[in-house]
Amino acid sequence: MKLFKCTEKKQPKRNSFSNLGQNLIFHEPLKVDAHIFCCSARLRVETEIPVLQERVVEDIRKKGFMFQFETFRVFESSLEEIFSPSAASIIIQSASNRCGRHTCRQILKQIKTKENVLTYLSHLKDEMNWGKIFFQDLDLGNGRGRILVYNSFETMARKDTKPSCHFLRGYLAGFLSELFKREITVEEEQCAAMGNSHCKFSFK
Ligand SMILES: [Zn+2]
Repeated sequence: MKLFKCTEKKQPKRNSFSNLGQNLIFHEPLKVDAHIFCCSARLRVETEIPVLQERVVEDIRKKGFMFQFETFRVFESSLEEIFSPSAASIIIQSASNRCGRHTCRQILKQIKTKENVLTYLSHLKDEMNWGKIFFQDLDLGNGRGRILVYNSFETMARKDTKPSCHFLRGYLAGFLSELFKREITVEEEQCAAMGNSHCKFSFK
């Protein structure tokens, strides 16, 4: 069985969100870098996944709204100004941790294997323009691995000297903790906000 990734007919600009939910077709086989393990590459054949993936595209406009990169940056800066950068990062991570847990619980109602849950998460967040998420060196038995995120929404309007994806870090920690049924910690080792090509997280 070939694995397919949902793409747009016309490649969007890096910051474009305008075509989300429109002109989406499933036609390109998933391209996986030789050194990157993406969950989809080892996806077990389960009919629930394609059905749910199609539903993501259909549901996004009904269930969500657009938040511009710049607006999110202003929101984050305001928190940093009000509380201090380190306090703001803890607040953002704590709040997004709960969001990640909530999303994982929702997905687990419909998808049972850890591998497929992670595949679905990657697809969901790609469609929502949060970034392209890949899992690397995954140890599903022990709940360890790395996460690569290309075009993280938190870095699109931000330049910094240290890792800055506080929302994603907390969200992924909450999501994975729910998935592995124990406390998972996530560290961001490199970040596109610092000039790297992508963000890299490790979790254990
Ligand atoms: Zn980052």
